[in-house]
Amino acid sequence: MLVDTHCHLGDSRFDADRDDVVARARAAGVGHVVVIADSAPATEHARALANQYGISATSGVHPHEASSWCDDVKARVTAALDDSCVVAVGETGLDYHYDHSPRDAQRRAFEAQLALAAEHHLPVVVHAREADADMAAMLPEWGADVPALVLHSFSSGPDVFAAGMAIGAYFGFSGMITFKNWGPTEFVTTCPPDRLLIETDAPYLTPVPHRGKRNEPAFVQHVAQRVAELRQVPLEQLATETTANARRCFGARVAQPYDLES
Ligand SMILES: [Zn+2]
Repeated sequence: MLVDTHCHLGDSRFDADRDDVVARARAAGVGHVVVIADSAPATEHARALANQYGISATSGVHPHEASSWCDDVKARVTAALDDSCVVAVGETGLDYHYDHSPRDAQRRAFEAQLALAAEHHLPVVVHAREADADMAAMLPEWGADVPALVLHSFSSGPDVFAAGMAIGAYFGFSGMITFKNWGPTEFVTTCPPDRLLIETDAPYLTPVPHRGKRNEPAFVQHVAQRVAELRQVPLEQLATETTANARRCFGARVAQPYDLES
């Protein structure tokens, strides 16, 4: 069984055929999906989907949406954390590539969500893009306070990798590693086997051989295949390891295959 640890199943691109998408994932051996939230409304949607399908959700505000962070949003994100289907805070972090929110707003919202994760003893899902210096500086400050931290769709450089390693972070790899022009394979190969997670980040980052199509959780099998290839381990072993890691990181719920009949 595989776990897609990062999927935006609430995205409107799944509105027309979400039941089929979930069924295809199950048929492809994807036993669990973590539905990622990126805003207060998305948190509520992710929760509803997680409860509907017997999967899991996160609660949080993406760096793109960081300017929306305020007391009301914080209250909505916090309220969701009491739901047993919510297994992590996030996705939060820093994105200095798009800069959709001012950088100081991104840092504030990120710190506030790290504090929430620490307070609620939940892991935190972190998005880091072209923000290596700030990310590498912030990770050591919070590493001891949060129970677990995931650097999702890892695409940062050696400083963030080292900072993540130093705090025992998990590294999530997405379809990006299947792209022909994808560079730094050394992080996939040097990541310790007990820190490795796989994800789709669907509907984004569609892996080879489905480039050009919408991504979906069933395609996490292609990510798993590529990680296994790069690490030169059997796919079976990779699946066992990454599912055990997802369970250790997010809790027993994510190692529970969902039941399509329920
Ligand atoms: Zn995401």
